[in-house]
Amino acid sequence: MKQDTKIVSAGRKKEWTQGSVNPPVQRASTIVFDTVKEMKHATANRANKTLFYGRRGTSTSFALSEAMCEIEGGVGCALYPCGTAAITSALLSFLEAGDHLLMVDTAYEPTRDFCNKMLTKLGIETTYYDPMIGAGINELIKPNTKVLFLESPGSNTMEVQDVPTLSTIAHQHDITVMLDNTWGSGINFKPFDYGVDISIQAATKYIVGHSDVMIGTATANEAHWPTLRESSYLLGQCVSADDCYLALRGLRTLGVRMKQHEQNALKVAHWLKEHPSVERVLHPAFEECPGHEFFKRDFNGSNGLFSFVLNEGDNQSITEFLDSMTHFKMGFSWGGYESLILKVNGLDYLRTAKPWPKQGAVIRVHIGLEDVDDLIADLDQGLKRLR
Ligand SMILES: *Cc1c(COP(=O)(O)O)cnc(C)c1O
Repeated sequence: MKQDTKIVSAGRKKEWTQGSVNPPVQRASTIVFDTVKEMKHATANRANKTLFYGRRGTSTSFALSEAMCEIEGGVGCALYPCGTAAITSALLSFLEAGDHLLMVDTAYEPTRDFCNKMLTKLGIETTYYDPMIGAGINELIKPNTKVLFLESPGSNTMEVQDVPTLSTIAHQHDITVMLDNTWGSGINFKPFDYGVDISIQAATKYIVGHSDVMIGTATANEAHWPTLRESSYLLGQCVSADDCYLALRGLRTLGVRMKQHEQNALKVAHWLKEHPSVERVLHPAFEECPGHEFFKRDFNGSNGLFSFVLNEGDNQSITEFLDSMTHFKMGFSWGGYESLILKVNGLDYLRTAKPWPKQGAVIRVHIGLEDVDDLIADLDQGLKRLR
């Protein structure tokens, strides 16, 4: 089955939809049983999409979990109230006091904060590694290294990692490989074909696609699913049926939305590359992006999110540029239908394995589904304000 067909059909078996196109929103805390036998059956099958108790899910969440696995891969998908909860729960599921974690230097900032502020407290040590380290990861592995965490492309600076090389080396040392696949979104990067054990997404972004729901997913291969599932349950992670419904609804247009985001973003990126105020475009599809060769080898396409480096502009004029935008609003997210812009701050302290060189400001944009000519005109008038 081709991908666009899968996006339409995934998770829509009759058991969940009850004959309508979309599954009903099954809200429940309590599931009631008429007989002891029924209750025993539910208890025995509670980990396997059988109605048991609300926290284990209902048909709406089962439909979403199943859909995510059909599209992204893996044998099971745990759902969380946001992407950050998916990341922290996956890490807590596979780490304990005395363990060592290898975390990519370009991780999403809250992921990094969790390692520094929470894992440290639990006696778990983190080493940050250069996203471009490749086979050099070998030298950072210790006897107590238990998890290798990747995010590809990297947050804000877009370095693409050599996932298969990193996974192969990790597995030689029995290390669990986790990937923040939010940018790849399950359709542009297929984590399980490249050795990833657990793939995490902020479904808040492209899966939901409309900037109105927080939700996280973690899909796992067979070896890792039971531990991830039970640990996440112990941590109390669950999602409301309404939010699952909206994620499923967003998911159905993921394919068409993504093609338009990609096309619009590439057009804007090529325009920016030629702009005199722009030093460099940080977009995986561009040759100058670190890891571009891995993007070409491993990805099916790109999306609406990328960054660029300015070669001029003081703080004041960059503020005037951002304040002047009409179609680009400022906001800390991406993956919705609308365009967003922000100045990336903190790269001087958010990169410790390989310092970010002193250079112009980094601007991150999410290119939405507006007419691309309107977006370019908006950037054009804004960039004129730089001094
Ligand atoms: C937004 C984001 C997250 C966190 O998702 P939330 O749903 O906001 O908690 C994690 N990773 C990446 C790469 C993100 O962009």
